[in-house]
Amino acid sequence: MSETTAPASAPSPQQPADETPAIGIHKRGVQFPQTHPLALAPVTPPPPTVDGFVKEFLHELNTDQGVALSRSSINDQYTALAHTVRNYLTARWLETGRKQREGHTKSVAYLSAEYLLGRQLGNNLLAANLNDVARKALESCGLSLDTLRAQEVEPGLGNGGLGRLAACFIDSLATMNVPCVGYGIRYEYGIFRQTFVNGEQVEQPDSWLALGNPWEIAHPEAAVKVNFGGRVETVTDEAGVATSTWVPEWNVLGVPYNIMVPGYLNGRVNTLRLWSAQATQAFDLSIFNAGDYAQAVRAQTFAENISKVLYPEDSTPQGKELRLQQQYFFVACSLRDFIDNQGEDFDLRDLPERVIFQLNDTHPVIAVPELMRILIDERGFDWNDAWAITSKCFAYTCHTLLPEALEVWSVELLGRLLPRHLEIIYRINTEFLEVVRERWPDDYLRLGRMSIVTEYPERGIRMAYLATVAGIKVNGVAALHSQLLRDKVLNDFAELWPDKFINVTNGVTPRRFMKLANPHLSDLITDTIGTGWVTDLERLEELAPYADDADFRAAFREAKHANKIRLRDRLRVRDGIELPTDHMLDVMVKRLHEYKRQTLKLLHIVSLYEQIISGKVDAADVTPRTFVFGAKAAPGYRMAKNIIHLINNVGEVVNNDPAVEGRLKVFFPANYNVTLAERLIPAADLSEQISLAGMEASGTGNMKFALNGAITIGTDDGANVEIRKLVGDDNFFLFGMDEPQVAALGAKGYHPGEYYESDPRLKATLDLIASGTFSNGDHQTFEPVVSNLVHNDRFMALADFTSYIEAQAKVDAAYADTEAWTRSAILNVARCGFFSSDRSMKDYIKLIWGTNPVL
Ligand SMILES: *Cc1c(COP(=O)(O)O)cnc(C)c1O
Repeated sequence: MSETTAPASAPSPQQPADETPAIGIHKRGVQFPQTHPLALAPVTPPPPTVDGFVKEFLHELNTDQGVALSRSSINDQYTALAHTVRNYLTARWLETGRKQREGHTKSVAYLSAEYLLGRQLGNNLLAANLNDVARKALESCGLSLDTLRAQEVEPGLGNGGLGRLAACFIDSLATMNVPCVGYGIRYEYGIFRQTFVNGEQVEQPDSWLALGNPWEIAHPEAAVKVNFGGRVETVTDEAGVATSTWVPEWNVLGVPYNIMVPGYLNGRVNTLRLWSAQATQAFDLSIFNAGDYAQAVRAQTFAENISKVLYPEDSTPQGKELRLQQQYFFVACSLRDFIDNQGEDFDLRDLPERVIFQLNDTHPVIAVPELMRILIDERGFDWNDAWAITSKCFAYTCHTLLPEALEVWSVELLGRLLPRHLEIIYRINTEFLEVVRERWPDDYLRLGRMSIVTEYPERGIRMAYLATVAGIKVNGVAALHSQLLRDKVLNDFAELWPDKFINVTNGVTPRRFMKLANPHLSDLITDTIGTGWVTDLERLEELAPYADDADFRAAFREAKHANKIRLRDRLRVRDGIELPTDHMLDVMVKRLHEYKRQTLKLLHIVSLYEQIISGKVDAADVTPRTFVFGAKAAPGYRMAKNIIHLINNVGEVVNNDPAVEGRLKVFFPANYNVTLAERLIPAADLSEQISLAGMEASGTGNMKFALNGAITIGTDDGANVEIRKLVGDDNFFLFGMDEPQVAALGAKGYHPGEYYESDPRLKATLDLIASGTFSNGDHQTFEPVVSNLVHNDRFMALADFTSYIEAQAKVDAAYADTEAWTRSAILNVARCGFFSSDRSMKDYIKLIWGTNPVL
């Protein structure tokens, strides 16, 4: 019997004709009594020849966009091209889904509030090996692939490193043939578009969906209901057993949008499923006056606000109600979706064999009580059985060491929004503290320290502790970070469960950040060692011997120079900047945060400038350098915005001063994002990774730079530690205090003013800023920045200044020896294969997930 022949009693998939189609009655996987032979396999578009591609492209343009080529806009063309590429991926996507359902394989469900995807077109052409065909096909229509690629607005559904990591991970899992579904939020507005007005950051909404998103497929019929508010009713039966029921007050719908995540040249296509909030009728009726139609329609806006905008905070959550709504919204949708997809007769006892929910930071941790609630309240499990299941289904990745970045939700808010979940969290805590008490009887201080519930400054739930208690594993994101988690931030928990704490060093995908972003270097590498490195990055080692080959070095420099020209051309059009291509290119790009110390970089620049204009140094003796910054500040982060203003004003003065002409340039192209990173990083000579030791959990920008042949100047922090170990001290510029020294100085009492007074060069630098040189003579503008450094300087920039300046002098000396510099740069590439996110995924699989690739 053929697979598609169903018993005669199979339900009809059709709607009764007289009813409005509704959500929730559309079943999937219904068997049809008969079918067309063509429906037995997914429909594939014509073969990927130039003519086949043209045909499919014109078909999309004509039927989907409804325009003739001669009348089409660039956006029509881009959309038709994107759909064409999507069509080529669809058959593989359907096939991937079928295999997964049939194989009952264990999946990774990656729960992340952010995915900083970057543009999709180039990546998908690469993954499907359609680049050349598409280019030729478009040329034959008189169109340019590059022009159409430039039309894409990148989905900025993340703030920075954490969101970009999620995007790299799902790329790697697809490439490694591992079943994975990424779950997240389809923000209508992603990270804001940054502009500068008189040097100050001004945020513009990122309406990335305005021209449509050809990469997503909506399934409104599969929407999931998510409840909020209300109260918990407890009923005690005759046997004295209390059961709780959540009586919610309002709800919204989560509509899934599917996005394909293709593996690189392997035919696998995983899914990224993002949820969009919509109003339900129940919502309108319960919150607002049912008689007021207009008000009820307005109420829709309230519901849809949940997925309206990404919070633009990085490392400093504000504890806003809407943010908690977002977190619960996407997590509730995702758990429901995953469980429902296992089929009706699936025994939830087997859930740990079917899935691991990886929690990307604390943002999705509310999933823990949500799964408990589903098991107990909806499926009738008792507490212990439910906990036995739940405590095997989650693993937690911690991304920070900053205390203010660890999320704590106020009990008042949690109780109001999710009363049943709060009750469950309390019970988890009670049982957990029992375990602690058993191990350390009478250690009351420890009980207070470890409690999931904190009392100060108000009663709140420490989400990192909840994740640690529930997770099978807790991982940090670089060796040093994981060690500090064990020894400091979560030390009490590590004493209780030493085996729970592991390290998985972050990584980046070589597909996007090398193959796609750096075609010149990629071609050189492939010509030298073959193609295997793209999916087996450790093979870059084979380049090491070529560091001693003068011809290879020359070719390597040529690639770097070509990348500077590519960058110059982009910045000229994008920002009206004229980038010198014969300078050392010194780049610091990452979110603006005091712990990352953009001010330290700025002090170096101002110091160089001060030495020249004061006549201490002859301009002719200064290595020509162009400094490029890229950084967004959280809109409410005052100091960060002041620093942006100062960087821009320093650039304005330095770039227009004839005294330093041909020596120093300072540029700050606005709106740093993945698209800019892809152009900027391959052109860089020097990578600035200068956070205060013990503050940067890992960093991934540092890895992208090293893999693209920039040399790092950095502190002993995050993954810098591992980069330096791999590339060797001769190929890395180390400076500054290490973490124990930072801790010791902090304990002794840090007085930045002493550094200001005792280092004349530092004093002259800060005095120049304070003098109003960069603010048209006004002393007030940058007073907060200067006085913060001299009187507070939480991140000890002044303490590391001297060491930083000395290291920069070594950079100049090294750069003067072109051949030796190139050799070092090549060795950075050759020795950093470890930082592929494929390797990170192997570590997660081995140490946490126990999932297997599907072969
Ligand atoms: C890689 C990346 C980051 C992370 O950079 P760090 O230097 O590790 O903080 C942030 N934003 C974008 C656009 C990136 O591509």
